[in-house]
Amino acid sequence: MNRRLPGTISQCQKILLATHNHAPTAFSSRFLSTSRVNRERQECQVLVVGGGTGGCAMAAKLSSRLGSDKVVVLEPEDKHYYQPMFTLIGGGMKRLDQSHRQMADVLPTRAKWVKEKALEFDPDNNTVSTSGGKTIKYDFLIIATGLQLNYGKIPGLVEALETPGSNVCSIYSPKYVDHVYECLRRTNKGNAIFTFPNCPIKCAGAPQKIAYISDHYFRKMGRRDNINIIYNTSLPVIFGVKHYAEALMKLIKRRNITLNVQRNLVEVRHKDNIAVFEDLAKPGVHYEETYSMLHVTPPMSTPDVVANCKKLVTPTGFVDVDQMTLQHNKYNNVFAIGDSASSPNSKTAAAAAAQSPVVFRNVMAVIKGKAPTDIYDGYSSCPIVTGYSSCILAEFDYNLTPVETFPLDQSKERYSMFFMKKELMPVLYWKLMMNGYWNGPALMRKMFSVLKFNKKQ
Ligand code: FAD
Repeated sequence: MNRRLPGTISQCQKILLATHNHAPTAFSSRFLSTSRVNRERQECQVLVVGGGTGGCAMAAKLSSRLGSDKVVVLEPEDKHYYQPMFTLIGGGMKRLDQSHRQMADVLPTRAKWVKEKALEFDPDNNTVSTSGGKTIKYDFLIIATGLQLNYGKIPGLVEALETPGSNVCSIYSPKYVDHVYECLRRTNKGNAIFTFPNCPIKCAGAPQKIAYISDHYFRKMGRRDNINIIYNTSLPVIFGVKHYAEALMKLIKRRNITLNVQRNLVEVRHKDNIAVFEDLAKPGVHYEETYSMLHVTPPMSTPDVVANCKKLVTPTGFVDVDQMTLQHNKYNNVFAIGDSASSPNSKTAAAAAAQSPVVFRNVMAVIKGKAPTDIYDGYSSCPIVTGYSSCILAEFDYNLTPVETFPLDQSKERYSMFFMKKELMPVLYWKLMMNGYWNGPALMRKMFSVLKFNKKQ
């Protein structure tokens, strides 16, 4: 258990360059590449591990409040992806190059970027060791490492995804997302199968969004009569929130999509176009289905470095935080935001946005020696794109109760919601959220709630 008293803040020290003692340039002070710097020790007030959606938003908020050089972001990637766009890329509505920016342009200039991976967490000594041989000592730690995609856990899947011209695709990785539209264009008969794995995933709506987009695509092309669309999910229901599940069940029926629940993909034999599923209601019972197109949502987990630090995680490998305050249950100077947190919300960027002011205020409270009192209510949202011009905007909390922003029945398919998802949300993400200015739509919801619209309209 960490005994560091909240409020005992060490000043973030200048980076000590063991091999370079010249003053870093503006450029080199932000980019500390492994090749140039060896055996470096570094200290900071706040260390954010992961510069994705949650990490970048937190770094922006905290560095803007605490001032320059107080916040270090540990993030190995060059590119920052706006992952919610991947579904649209799969449907040919956006291009991959529209979904990313250079990490250097997204991370806040007031924070220091260490372009390396976290290799080991040592929460008893408040340190993280990195892939470049550094040991970073922190006063406060925010874990924002997201989820890793475990394609390799399904035998035959990686080979299938990486074989040119194969009929297997996945919107979940920037590496494979472009191939989804290629598969759509090629498929003109047979079974188009869409899967949902047997574990928590990010954006639990995305596996069905791409099925609905595919359905619309095949209809537009006049091929739908020759193609069976099959949605095989490991879950027992189509969607966890009843209000939206009812609307989606009607949609599935109307569009003639086959829904199989408790079906988990366990093997891909791509040379024969066969997918093997386990019936989770009858463990051990496997059956084979042939496909002309197979869209796979991979199993996911927190990155190994997080899951392996048993002091920090729950038995399922998520960072063990209080679901209200997002503070670690054992280490009071550790917080988590986003997909890697154990809070039982639906894992989305929208959830990370709603968590960000809570983590920010609670970190600031703990820095000042106070108890964290800000509460996250589990808000998450999922714009369920149902085709090339329609979307159901699901919004809900920990109780799976709808918390809708707009004075409309959001379980209806609407063009307005589609337009918002496709055109407005990316702008909101890059311009507001990445600069620490977007806290989710709670304020908008309050403003709209005074309007007395008939929700059935
Ligand atoms: P991420 O944004 O994934 O960032 C994690 C970061 O941690 C990465 O930059 C990674 O490089 C870094 N990292 C990992 N390991 C280490 C390490 N060892 N050391 C240092 N850094 C590390 N959300 C929505 O709100 N709406 C949607 O419509 C939506 N659709 C989606 C569709 C798809 C296909 C996908 C894939 C996601 C979608 N999401 C959607 C989910 C959303 O993108 C994620 O929930 C969100 O990005 C999670 O933020 P995060 O900060 O937890 O993780």
